[in-house]
Amino acid sequence: MALIVQKYGGSSVGDADKIKHVARRIIDCQAEGNQVCVVVSAMGDTTDELLDLANQVAVNPEGRELDMLLTAGERISMALLAMAINELGAKSLSFTGSQAGIMTDEVHGNARIAEVNPDRVAEALDAGNIAIVAGFQGFNRDSRDITTLGRGGSDTTAVALASALKADLCEIYSDVDGVYTADPRVVPTAKKLEAIDVESMLELAAAGAKILHIRAVEFARRHNVELRVRSTFSNDPGTIVLADENGVKQMEESIVSGIATDKTQAKITVIGIPDVPGKAAAVFTTVAEAGANIDMIVQNTPTGSDVTDRVSDITFTLPKGELKKVLDALAQNRDVLGYRELESDDQIGKLSVVGAGMRTHSGVSAILFRALAEASINVEMISTSEIRISVITGLDQVDDAARAVHKAFDLDGDSVATIYAGTGR
Ligand code: ADP
Ligand code: ASP
Ligand code: MG
Repeated sequence: MALIVQKYGGSSVGDADKIKHVARRIIDCQAEGNQVCVVVSAMGDTTDELLDLANQVAVNPEGRELDMLLTAGERISMALLAMAINELGAKSLSFTGSQAGIMTDEVHGNARIAEVNPDRVAEALDAGNIAIVAGFQGFNRDSRDITTLGRGGSDTTAVALASALKADLCEIYSDVDGVYTADPRVVPTAKKLEAIDVESMLELAAAGAKILHIRAVEFARRHNVELRVRSTFSNDPGTIVLADENGVKQMEESIVSGIATDKTQAKITVIGIPDVPGKAAAVFTTVAEAGANIDMIVQNTPTGSDVTDRVSDITFTLPKGELKKVLDALAQNRDVLGYRELESDDQIGKLSVVGAGMRTHSGVSAILFRALAEASINVEMISTSEIRISVITGLDQVDDAARAVHKAFDLDGDSVATIYAGTGR
């Protein structure tokens, strides 16, 4: 008998009919002779709606209370799914994250899983039940509080449970047939990949492809969890995430595995900062103390006639939501940092081209920049890793950039990708 962990995302359980559809799929999987543990997300856009509500009653809601609020979303869907399964004649029990033994650190809103003790889940499975676990939530022993794992975190709950239960397979069910060469909502001609190597998947997730939560991919790599991304609404086998790039090569030939866009970033430029050792350290210490998570960094070549008064500019990107607190922190430290002025822009987009084949093939940057130039897209910043090139463009240009670059790398498919549900929010 195999043990399968299945995770159903918000759009898969968006209403009562969809919950009943998911219930039937799960029962079919059990009827094929498997033990099934299911992780479920909040219905539809519930998490966003709860966040909107919180922001209507408070400017800066406390992390603890936000986590109490948001975890209610998954609690609703887990109970409804268990009821729907029981109604169809199978046996099911639902569990909150803490009941399922998901123990985390105490960081509200972005907690990391420290350990998983799924005794109750294992007992339920052994007694012939389908176990339903609320995704995205955990419990911290020291603070004795409920935590959440960050947006999209139900994927990570699923992979962590699959690892702790020693499951044979972890399936992530969503509203598209698998991992595509780009977000099909942005590039309609994106192609589904049969397989992707875990390194490329990590880079795509980090670059904004929200089909998988980055921590889920990291966890799967570290603990050798077999991971497959599939659609709730079709029987397509989906995309398998493979540990080894060579296994992928037999199925996918291109140098570039995919393209991702990210519209959640902003940038700050610290203008006229003295060109002396220690200034970059001072800037980024201030940024770190403000608790921000920065991404790209660029420093201009210093200008000025004499070595003693040379100045340069430092630009970096960070999540939009952290812009204000970082600008405030830099402004407060202006005297110590000695810069001339601060500039910021939250109307930027990031485009990333990812592929393990970049290690061994040259010419990827040439194709990328030619495609951007032909589409008249101005590049504001560039950063690279061994298997990724990212550029910052204007927010209103990034989708056009993605389509142009997708085409230039010959990734366009013959048909338009199917999006079965969801609002893309
Ligand atoms: P769920 O609620 O099931 O977790 P998400 O909305 O978090 O679903 O993730 C699925 C969405 O991810 C898709 O609907 C699609 O718009 C988006 N997406 C972004 N990049 C990709 C990609 N490379 N392949 C497939 N989907 C992607
Ligand atoms: N419901 C949470 C969110 O919307 C977690 C998840 O769906 O994975 O971010
Ligand atoms: Mg998701």
